[in-house]
Amino acid sequence: METWEIAQSVYKSRFQKPNCVHDGEFPLTGIRRCPVCNAGMIIGRTTNRTKDGTKKVLEYYVCGAWKNKGTMVCRSNGVRTDYADPFVLDKLQRLMRSDKLIKDLVNKVNSRNESKFAPLQHEYDMYEKQMKDLEQKLSKTFDAYTDELISKAMYSDKARQLEEQISQLKEHMEPLRKQVEEIRWKMFPMKSSKMCYRIF
Ligand SMILES: [Zn+2]
Repeated sequence: METWEIAQSVYKSRFQKPNCVHDGEFPLTGIRRCPVCNAGMIIGRTTNRTKDGTKKVLEYYVCGAWKNKGTMVCRSNGVRTDYADPFVLDKLQRLMRSDKLIKDLVNKVNSRNESKFAPLQHEYDMYEKQMKDLEQKLSKTFDAYTDELISKAMYSDKARQLEEQISQLKEHMEPLRKQVEEIRWKMFPMKSSKMCYRIF
């Protein structure tokens, strides 16, 4: 995964869910890594007493290996959640607002779509040309009939054939047209950076 993807998924899953951060749930649990052993960090609590004797519970991200297996494995390396969470949240938000990252992303999405788009468009153009040919034939047939070059029976026979071909071609073109339109919609105009935010 690339940095922006990680940033985006972490942000979405940990910070954006409605009522996500309720009591006892901390967004960086398991994501934050112990700086010494790289184990996932989990929540540890200490209870302090303030000067007037009231209890105060502090929450830390602590090394999961230390908490589960003890000091033989690692140390606590605790970081207070009320410091760590806003710090990381801020970093994630900056990352997601970064113009360069967004531009890179937009380019990537566009070029991926373009490679799908070109052959579909080509196929669609081909059908469109066939359609024009058929329509032209149909109108020439009608002219031939009005100029009395062919009989009414011949005309209706020929016209029926052509109309059948046209409707078959339309059936081919319709799903293709939808696909082309869909891809076009997914492409982001690079100039308007506001449009880029549609990704998020
Ligand atoms: Zn550790």
